[in-house]
Amino acid sequence: MKQKRFFLEESQIPRQWYNILADLPEKPAPMLNPKTRQPVTVEELSTIFCTECSKQELNTTDRWIDIPQPVLEKYAYYRSTPLVRAYGLEEALGTPAHIYFKNESVSPIGSHKLNSALPQAYYCKQEGATNVTTETGAGQWGTALAYAAKVFGLEAAVYQVKLTYEQKPYRRSMMQVFGAQVTPSPSMSTRAGKDILTANPNHQGSLGTAISEAVELAQMTPGCKYALGSTMNHVSLHQTIIGLEAEKQMEMAGEYPDTVIACFGGGSNFGGIAFPFLRHNLSGERHTRFIAAEPESCPKLTKGRFEYDFGDEAGYTPLIPMYTLGHDFTPSNIHAGGLRYHGAGAIVSQLIKDGLMEGMDIAQTEAFDASVLFAKAEGIIPAPESGHAIAAAVREALECKRTGREATILFNLSGTGLVDMPSYDQYLRGNLINFKYEP
Ligand SMILES: *Cc1c(COP(=O)(O)O)cnc(C)c1O
Repeated sequence: MKQKRFFLEESQIPRQWYNILADLPEKPAPMLNPKTRQPVTVEELSTIFCTECSKQELNTTDRWIDIPQPVLEKYAYYRSTPLVRAYGLEEALGTPAHIYFKNESVSPIGSHKLNSALPQAYYCKQEGATNVTTETGAGQWGTALAYAAKVFGLEAAVYQVKLTYEQKPYRRSMMQVFGAQVTPSPSMSTRAGKDILTANPNHQGSLGTAISEAVELAQMTPGCKYALGSTMNHVSLHQTIIGLEAEKQMEMAGEYPDTVIACFGGGSNFGGIAFPFLRHNLSGERHTRFIAAEPESCPKLTKGRFEYDFGDEAGYTPLIPMYTLGHDFTPSNIHAGGLRYHGAGAIVSQLIKDGLMEGMDIAQTEAFDASVLFAKAEGIIPAPESGHAIAAAVREALECKRTGREATILFNLSGTGLVDMPSYDQYLRGNLINFKYEP
């Protein structure tokens, strides 16, 4: 079984991120301040986020944004990530398609999330902050921010949903190893947490309670900024490092993708791999298809409504024009925790509305079928989230087999599954069930 991997020399690693907002034919409607219903300003955003990220969030004019040198130095710890020709998977499927994957699971924390945590922590430090805070559900984003904070000399306080704090201890341990203070939410450390616990002492926590606590901490503590790991424009911007590298690596392989696929939670790894390739569609040179693989239990892209909604359950973020199942939607308890999110980033939502990208719904068991097939063929155990992208790639490769088409498929492997083995256990015992959302 062959496996061919492509790497970039340090000198070839991109030094700028790609801001697709500058190139969009139809720009997303502005984010609104929920109180005034007026477009949000950099000043308003920077009361909780760092100023540089607030500027990037609203920047619709600069196509390329420089990656700061200290961030490039930290990227170099694990970048370039390999682009891999998946000969093993092709053979297992008997497909004439050429399948490639970009392996973001090799980052120090095991997922793509570090690509945005590093610049966010860096900018906070530059602007004089001493602390960063955030919320985390399953723990991937919290782990990324904990490590990035340590790297740039900041203290990190992470509010983790109480239920996962107790049920999934390994990511909590990882955050603590990197030196973060991890608090199960709701907690007695904030006004919001106290109010929730007073009303319901046994509250098990939710992303909503954790966000409320993190935002309160950022607003009440001098020198403390809040950071988010998905959905926002500046997060996808940082993630374009994935697609920009992949573009050069595909060139080394002498190919160009006909189809680009990634799993979809709030859209950061999907936007990250897709936007750099999409720019060649926008200029008319290419006609690549872009598929966002979402769980059928949380199908905002195919079954959601396009409207203004909050980015978070608690209603703290600006109102964002997006595909959403409603910010009060409670997703089923699937194992792909990173995909249990009610909405979709504004840019991807606009692109889907305009027919430039598409969503595809994947059942939980189909994602695990594909992950196990992939693990046997390529020797990597994927995150349950990434399994959705693999399943979509498998569907496309089998369609090529049926029609005899030799298409080139590229997907993003967003993370490793090595801390998610209990979910594989359940799959192997036949205990996994599907939850299909019906509107
Ligand atoms: C968080 C996460 C996702 C989903 O987030 P996006 O912003 O949609 O990329 C997917 N895969 C992994 C491994 C994650 O940690």
